[in-house]
Amino acid sequence: MPIATVNPANGETIKTYEPMDEEELERRLQLAEATFRTYRTTSFAERAALLERAADLLDEDQADIGRVMTTEMGKPVKQARAEAAKCAKAMRWYAAHAEALLADEEPDPSDVTDSGASRAVVRYRPLGPVLAVMPWNFPLWQVVRFAAPALMAGNVGLLKHASNVPQTALYLEDLFHRAGFPVGCFQTLLVGSGAIDDILRDERVRAATLTGSEPAGRAVASTAGEMIKKTVLELGGSDPFIVMPSADLDRAAQVAVTARVQNNGQSCIAAKRFIVHTDVYDAFAERFVAGMRALRVGDPLEEDTEVGPLASERGREDLEELVDDARRGGARVLCGGERPEGPGWFYPPTVVADVDREMRIHREETFGPVATLYRANDLDEAVLIANDSLFGLSSNVWTRDEAEVDRFVRDLEAGGVFVNGMTASHPALPFGGVKRSGYGRELSGHGIREFCNITTVWHG
Ligand code: NDP
Repeated sequence: MPIATVNPANGETIKTYEPMDEEELERRLQLAEATFRTYRTTSFAERAALLERAADLLDEDQADIGRVMTTEMGKPVKQARAEAAKCAKAMRWYAAHAEALLADEEPDPSDVTDSGASRAVVRYRPLGPVLAVMPWNFPLWQVVRFAAPALMAGNVGLLKHASNVPQTALYLEDLFHRAGFPVGCFQTLLVGSGAIDDILRDERVRAATLTGSEPAGRAVASTAGEMIKKTVLELGGSDPFIVMPSADLDRAAQVAVTARVQNNGQSCIAAKRFIVHTDVYDAFAERFVAGMRALRVGDPLEEDTEVGPLASERGREDLEELVDDARRGGARVLCGGERPEGPGWFYPPTVVADVDREMRIHREETFGPVATLYRANDLDEAVLIANDSLFGLSSNVWTRDEAEVDRFVRDLEAGGVFVNGMTASHPALPFGGVKRSGYGRELSGHGIREFCNITTVWHG
């Protein structure tokens, strides 16, 4: 894949970049290692001041970087600006909380005296340069939710961003630099995915985090495993959205639409499989389909556009194949399902009903505005359908019955259960999945500790 900005709304190539050569990569790896040696000794207050400055700059740049993101990957520009705002908020959150999250822990001396210790302390120390392999779907947020905690912990970052968002990738390096971070604290490596293996094998790189597809995750985790390096993986999702009879149906259907089409449907935590109790199935389906049909699809740079194009031609083809396969297998397409004429990689909001387990659309991730509808006879069946997935990122349940909530929280195989709302990430809440959705957590105290050397300090 060339490293280039190609506008998904019309297919026009706007800018291409030469990948960095080996010499440049070596220079950057050396710089990362050298910078880490001194940066690791800075205080939390010093790091927080830099990160707060980065947040202020990002706020100032919001409109410009919003347009860049929209031009590179097609998200509606309003959502792009909101993404930038969310990044600034996460930076401020980590600036304010990192010191407390990484404070020394001191076990009760009576618990450790039988180890011969007069006293013991657990200290969170940084690991070193961390490689971040990131996707294009939230080109700022995916990076910042790694970078903010990493920098506050005293690590330095090496970003390998997706090849279709090079301008956003370079913007990020520039942002941290302008904020005053030493140059080696955060560097963008403008390379294709073929260069990752060697970088990951380099002893100066201490750990890696990847957000993206399963094949990419598997490749990075395999090499990291061979090199005995820590990884965090945030891969795909096919989150269930379960609606029970006691739910507020109007609200559930309205939120279901947003949860499915946010970011043009290209979000790992988008609700993808809508599992509805048979008593309210028809009423929910009618509202949901009406909501999906009513969405404004169009130029993502227009302020009132709700759904833009998919990020790539390949992405649209993949999605189309899933819908066509379901149709051939006997599923009913309640709305959408046909690509429009004209330039750009648009695909309409689509709802597919009567899905069975053999269909690819049931098993694979639909990365675009396509929802599948399932009918469940009771809570047990809803849980069975929900868990009948290789993924386990998050889940959404709609009910006003507390006993049902308890059952869902006990039984759903996912890294999150969102009750009467849609899944969203938040700096203070852990984010990540189980099963093929990956492992490890981002955000909150759990996220910042992933790339720390948890050090036992023992005093005799
Ligand atoms: P990829 O997983 O291919 O890309 C994500 C990142 O991984 C990019 O930086 C990419 O680089 C890099 N990468 C790709 N292959 C390798 C590899 N073998 N070794 C190391 N790094 C690699 O996502 P795609 O853009 O191809 O999307 C495909 C599917 O992945 C989507 O349809 C969706 O299902 C899923 N996905 C999930 C995301 C999520 O948020 N969980 C985000 C994006 C995609 P490069 O761009 O240079 O190839």
